[in-house]
Amino acid sequence: MAVSDHVDLPTFMEGVKKRNPYQPEFVQAVQEVAEDIFDFIEDKEEYHAQQILRRIAEPDRVVSFRVCWEDDNGNVRVQRGWRVQNNNAIGPYKGGIRFHPSVNESVLKFLAFEQTFKNALTGLPMGGGKGGSNFNPKGKSVREIMRFCQSFMTELYRHIGADVDVPAGDIGVGGREIGYMFGQYKRITNHFTGVLTGKGLEWGGSLIRTEATGYGAVYFLANMLATKGEDLRGKTAVISGSGNVATHAAEKIVQLGGKVLTLSDSGGFIHDPDGIDQEKIDWVKTHKTHRRGRIEEYVDAFPGASFHAGKTPWGVPCDVALPCATQNELLGEDARTLIANGCKGVAEGANMPTDLEGVHVFKAARILYAPGKASNAGGVAVSGLEMSQNSERRSWKEHELQQMLKDIMAGIHKSCLTYGDQGGGYIDYVKGANIAGFKKVADAMLAFGVV
Ligand code: GLU
Repeated sequence: MAVSDHVDLPTFMEGVKKRNPYQPEFVQAVQEVAEDIFDFIEDKEEYHAQQILRRIAEPDRVVSFRVCWEDDNGNVRVQRGWRVQNNNAIGPYKGGIRFHPSVNESVLKFLAFEQTFKNALTGLPMGGGKGGSNFNPKGKSVREIMRFCQSFMTELYRHIGADVDVPAGDIGVGGREIGYMFGQYKRITNHFTGVLTGKGLEWGGSLIRTEATGYGAVYFLANMLATKGEDLRGKTAVISGSGNVATHAAEKIVQLGGKVLTLSDSGGFIHDPDGIDQEKIDWVKTHKTHRRGRIEEYVDAFPGASFHAGKTPWGVPCDVALPCATQNELLGEDARTLIANGCKGVAEGANMPTDLEGVHVFKAARILYAPGKASNAGGVAVSGLEMSQNSERRSWKEHELQQMLKDIMAGIHKSCLTYGDQGGGYIDYVKGANIAGFKKVADAMLAFGVV
């Protein structure tokens, strides 16, 4: 037996911490997965001998680069850009690009690690990657954003490709930014290929990509509720965030007969006891996307609502909760409050929005709790379908894509049941998602030998 075989979980995590100093988000994401995988591989010698988990938790490569651009006043600005290519055992690297001042190597490594499992769960051939920059789009002019995106792509283009690594959007990167980056990629390489997803419909984008993450999260929640013989009709929902994921999750909740009570941004949350209906959701979409406004202005447009500055919405009693903003936005204390207030189901629209303590609280309470890698996989799933359409040089119809998205979310739910059914009516979706995602990637890695 090799020296490093069969270390226990604390020893494994000690090594992860030592090799990744000052990277708490990455260590957190690995810990959450390792807790389940260590149980699963206990009696599976080959995974140990081949050091599979250790290898998945070591990115294939991390590319870091300087991004220089000129602001509107002619000042030279310098940002840092990254692409983390975590694992391509089952397909080209795939994952979004995030522009936010909080972006650093730890955040992108955690996201690329999570993406590896999420993408495997979709059943589509996609590996895991993530990229981004500490560039803050807030307050920047459209021309500044264009110049930044072009400069970012001037380095990134040499690391990506339709069969190599296919980025998409994430926080701070939407259709507009994808357009600027695709334009620059095409200009440099002279190749019109499916190198990015989330593209505009006129130039290779897919229908329902914009809606997919939020809709998918609610489909997943509906699948979870169905295991208890319930659905969303008449249920109250608390949602955080007010971007693409949050507004489309809200839209699908309303379509399925639920009542949305909250939305939020980094300034605080709004609580609308009358319910945030489709007309109000449309107002939020326009306000946040086109007017670049703040959620607190909602209360001027809809006076029945209240704004709670600097707070998250988890104290508002609800049947279901969807954290759709960012990582570690729902802490152990929030999880306890939700449960005390009778919350029955939580589906994460964001990546790792619940901290490790919160995850343990939800698991101990045995409620319906879906980790982002399962419930928010609808976005990357439709990205995968966009890649297929680009390869085939065709576009599928909306109803075809809607059905495919629903089927994929139902498939992920089924995979979670396979490994997460704990008996006595309790399904541990975290365990189910971790093991199902791991097994697919691990078995491909075993086939390739030591590489
Ligand atoms: N950023 C999204 C995610 O976290 C989408 C990634 C993609 O479509 O490649 O899954």
